Amino acid sequence: MKSHARVVVIGGGVVGVSTLYHLAKKGWSDVALIERKELTSGSTWHAAGLLPLFNMSYSVGQIHKYSVAFYQQLQQETGMNVGFRKVSNIRLATTRDRMDEYRQYAGVASTIGIDVDFLTPEEIVHHWPLCNPEGLIGAIRHPEDGYIQPADLTQALARGARDRGAEIYRNTTVTSISRNASGEWKVTTDKGEITCEHIVSATGNFAR
Ligand SMILES: Cc1cc2nc3c(=O)[nH]c(=O)nc-3n(C[C@H](O)[C@H](O)[C@H](O)COP(=O)(O)OP(=O)(O)OC[C@H]3O[C@@H](n4cnc5c(N)ncnc54)[C@H](O)[C@@H]3O)c2cc1C
Repeated sequence: MKSHARVVVIGGGVVGVSTLYHLAKKGWSDVALIERKELTSGSTWHAAGLLPLFNMSYSVGQIHKYSVAFYQQLQQETGMNVGFRKVSNIRLATTRDRMDEYRQYAGVASTIGIDVDFLTPEEIVHHWPLCNPEGLIGAIRHPEDGYIQPADLTQALARGARDRGAEIYRNTTVTSISRNASGEWKVTTDKGEITCEHIVSATGNFAR
């Protein structure tokens, strides 16, 4: 393990590895990631991999939109199949209040530049013949929605990061972090120590 890095990312789930990748892509190649087991051994391994663009928040919606476009580029860049499939997504409404929520959301979506279609019950059945339309008053559909393989995505991000000089230490557990007098961080692991300017904790549910 190297003794110094500009950034140490703790946690090798999709969030940590994506952070590592994007730092390296921005030119911060002196970065390292520490994962206590194997990459994706946390929540990322369990995720269904759905990529729903539906989001009431403008800023989170921007991240979702960026991600869906980025995953397709990443596949081309690394030559690794991330299992991306664009299959669209239908959200059903059985009440007027639910349709109002969708109309409010459509305003957010149009500001971000995300396509949303409104469907009648007949159109729902056209798209999804197995659906029983009884009681439905309509739906919204995201034509750009799809799914991905989260573990394959993480491995592709790891390759893209490594190709830009980032290092990944697997089977290495961070046991403590402390600050040096110089202001740098000291990250202690079961395999040695590493000092850095910045720490990113991407340990998900383990963060506590
Ligand atoms: C059943 C299920 C279904 C899901 N379905 C979806 C879905 O369809 N779509 C969607 O977008 N999201 C879904 N999610 C959510 C998604 O899985 C998480 O939001 C995402 O995986 C979180 O990634 P992460 O990198 O933050 O955390 P994690 O993947 O948990 O990564 C954290 C990593 O930190 C490591 N770590 C912890 N402590 C230390 C330490 N001290 N030293 C070194 N390493 C450490 C862990 O080993 C782990 O690998 C689902 C989640 C679950 C559980």
